[in-house]
Amino acid sequence: MHIVIIGAGIIGLAAAHRLLDLGLEVTLVDRSEPTAASRGNAGIIAHADILPLASPRTILQAARWIMDPLGPLAVRPACLPRLAPWLARFLFASLPSRVQRSMHGIVPLQAMALPAWERLLGRLRLTGELNRQGMLSVFESTGAFEALKPSYRSQLELGIPLELIDGSVLRTLEPALSDTFQRAAFFPSVAHVNDPYELALKLAAAAADRGAQLMEAAVSGIAIASGEEPVVVLEGGRTLAADRVLVAAGAWSKRLSACLGDSIPLDTERGYNATIAGPGLVLTRPVMFEEHAFVLSPLKGGLRVGGAVELASTAAAPNWRRVEALLAKAHAFVPGLEEDGRVDWMGCRPSLPDSLPVISASRWSRKVVYAFGHAHHGLTQAAATAELVGALVSGDEPAIDLTPYSAQRF
Ligand SMILES: Cc1cc2nc3c(=O)[nH]c(=O)nc-3n(C[C@H](O)[C@H](O)[C@H](O)COP(=O)(O)OP(=O)(O)OC[C@H]3O[C@@H](n4cnc5c(N)ncnc54)[C@H](O)[C@@H]3O)c2cc1C
Repeated sequence: MHIVIIGAGIIGLAAAHRLLDLGLEVTLVDRSEPTAASRGNAGIIAHADILPLASPRTILQAARWIMDPLGPLAVRPACLPRLAPWLARFLFASLPSRVQRSMHGIVPLQAMALPAWERLLGRLRLTGELNRQGMLSVFESTGAFEALKPSYRSQLELGIPLELIDGSVLRTLEPALSDTFQRAAFFPSVAHVNDPYELALKLAAAAADRGAQLMEAAVSGIAIASGEEPVVVLEGGRTLAADRVLVAAGAWSKRLSACLGDSIPLDTERGYNATIAGPGLVLTRPVMFEEHAFVLSPLKGGLRVGGAVELASTAAAPNWRRVEALLAKAHAFVPGLEEDGRVDWMGCRPSLPDSLPVISASRWSRKVVYAFGHAHHGLTQAAATAELVGALVSGDEPAIDLTPYSAQRF
């Protein structure tokens, strides 16, 4: 059976390996997009995150953040009319009853996330790509720390290891941090990759070695006649025949799923970062600054300072002042930070308003499968998603109930 995968981001690449495991003939098509989220993300396998972004907490924080033009949340006014339906759905998903519903989808997928990466990287002899120094989530105010205590209880009940520590213990773990941080949660089982782009390149090379065909081309659509096989249409009019198609085109997947008549409210939460080759200090593990929604990640190529959310279209020009705002905070939080060899980047997270991805067959054809919309957790959930895609394509029983990720839930 031949499958064409549209999108060689981390989701498409992980899926390619699962489908090769199952004996399929795989063609991966990608137009190579510099703002693809898998290139420049923070590299964290954040399987301990179990709270949906759409929640009363985010709504309260958003009201404060949005007042600051360079704060961690920005909305481009010109994009508001287009974004309004997505924002309305996000608000609805933030109702307490809906948060519980989203968590029913997040928890099992996150529980699969790290073991699935271990299986995939183990088979490919790439386990050295994972670092296991854990992650810190740090707080300046005791109030903000206390507010997350119910979440810590839920994480512990789910068997996620975590230690609540004070400022003095925190500074023994990460001496470079400023002493303004009073409390922290330490997640020892959270992992991070050496470099997310390098991992993607290694997965692509390994897929090619295993017989996958990698093709650089832009897909303009998918056509399907009733009962017939799907056809992938490339820009310029060339077509690729396939027995199955997997749409894993990240933030650009909406137009492709619409070709088949699926109406999926996908949009993008853009994020920015700067990677500093010579930061002049050492961090051992990623540090999440909860009150400021940004993260410092020690990667192979340097210290990555990133995060924040900008609601704007995939095509809108970047606002590089947002990186300056992130760096101003980073200088305050890790005194002594230098900026030698700094490279700035903006990327497009593929986001659905209920904080859950779509991992599902199309409503109109079981021969077309969707895997997109992983928002802040696409790297984390890629290998787990790949296993679920494998079940959808082969017809085997999936490891978890796929109802929460259905394309028809909207
Ligand atoms: C600043 C930032 C930090 C992040 N940090 C983390 C983190 O620490 N941990 C984590 O788990 N997640 C993180 N994420 C989220 C994560 O990066 C994404 O969820 C994930 O990369 C999405 O992967 P994807 O394969 O779905 O999409 P992408 O990586 O965007 O890939 C989609 C691919 O499809 C291709 N494509 C699109 N349209 C077409 C077309 N028509 N024809 C051909 N090809 C096409 C593109 O070229 C692209 O290569 C972060 C994101 C950002 C922006």
